[in-house]
Amino acid sequence: MKITENHSLKNNNTFGIDVQCSTFACIDSVEELEDFSENILKNEKFYILGGGSNTLFTKNFGGIIIHPEITGIEIVEESSESVVVCAAAGEEWDNLINFCIKNELYGLENLTAIPGLVGSAPVQNIGAYGVEVKDCILKVSGFDFSKKQLSEFSNAECGFSYRNSVFKANTKRDFLITHVFFRLSRKKRFNLSYNALAKTISDRYSEPTLKAISDTVREIRDSKLPDYRILGNCGSFFKNPVVSDGFCAKLLEKHPDLVVFDADGGNKKLSAGHLIEKCGWKGRRVGNAGVYPKQALVLVNYGNASPDEILNLAGMIVSDVRNEFGVELEMEINRV
Ligand SMILES: Cc1cc2nc3c(=O)[nH]c(=O)nc-3n(C[C@H](O)[C@H](O)[C@H](O)COP(=O)(O)OP(=O)(O)OC[C@H]3O[C@@H](n4cnc5c(N)ncnc54)[C@H](O)[C@@H]3O)c2cc1C
Repeated sequence: MKITENHSLKNNNTFGIDVQCSTFACIDSVEELEDFSENILKNEKFYILGGGSNTLFTKNFGGIIIHPEITGIEIVEESSESVVVCAAAGEEWDNLINFCIKNELYGLENLTAIPGLVGSAPVQNIGAYGVEVKDCILKVSGFDFSKKQLSEFSNAECGFSYRNSVFKANTKRDFLITHVFFRLSRKKRFNLSYNALAKTISDRYSEPTLKAISDTVREIRDSKLPDYRILGNCGSFFKNPVVSDGFCAKLLEKHPDLVVFDADGGNKKLSAGHLIEKCGWKGRRVGNAGVYPKQALVLVNYGNASPDEILNLAGMIVSDVRNEFGVELEMEINRV
């Protein structure tokens, strides 16, 4: 375990926000976490931080930040059809993708190149190109600070929904995920429900492989999204708003070109990026913060943006979308 006091978080969040925390604790093992839990609970507040790619620090953090560095990825159960893989929270998400490619395990390939650590993936039920991680999660294990003990959540108990779970909602923020168990297929099967991915794959490959899908997803993402090492950002800043079928039909009468997808329960999901673009925000810059010119859903830090600059920009966007479409945008990122 490594502990630093008055730690700068600038390199621990992909927005590149320059704030400090009182204590930064890197935890290497479950045993270390159990031993250290009393100390953690003595602090007025604590926050679990992975790669910081879905976290916007709004001010200095006067508490303890726990950064899981527990590593390891292994197959723990095997049959001819499927395997169970156990991945530790501190592994880079892309290490797990590489493990799957190497071992020919199907299911997670569309989630290639999502920044961050394995332990954060269940928190907002990461998703991309028609796949959500919940479809492959068997269970999640970790340390429950309220009960001061290790425990497990089955897939159903995780309460997964669109970019949400019990770990993101306020119900279980005091649960540190140490390991995620995935059920992955040994049988070749791909999800090509996302048009841009399906088209590129069919143009290039008659018999796509796992690596081909993963490489193509990476290439499409690289062409659309800014590299946070160059231009600070947290990916999608807002969730795609889900509205009722009736509300959507009325909206389409006035704005027939809106981008709409089917959502659970007969509802409709609107493209937040398209709504923002229609309000004229794509590519606009306000001070050191701006809207990425190639993808309006991504807010970027052009240099030393303060959290307030980013939040003010977000506020202006929310207000314009509300006035123009009567739709309320909700932030996808975690504000701390
Ligand atoms: C360029 C870019 C592209 C992105 N694309 C996508 C995308 O396609 N799809 C998508 O869903 N997301 C996307 N994201 C968002 C982000 O990468 C994911 O949400 C990722 O899973 C966050 O991982 P992290 O480790 O960086 O999380 P952090 O920001 O460190 O943490 C996120 C949340 O998880 C909690 N948390 C972290 N670790 C643990 C743990 N071990 N136990 C319990 N709680 C924990 C934190 O407290 C926080 O609430 C993108 C971000 C960027 C910068």
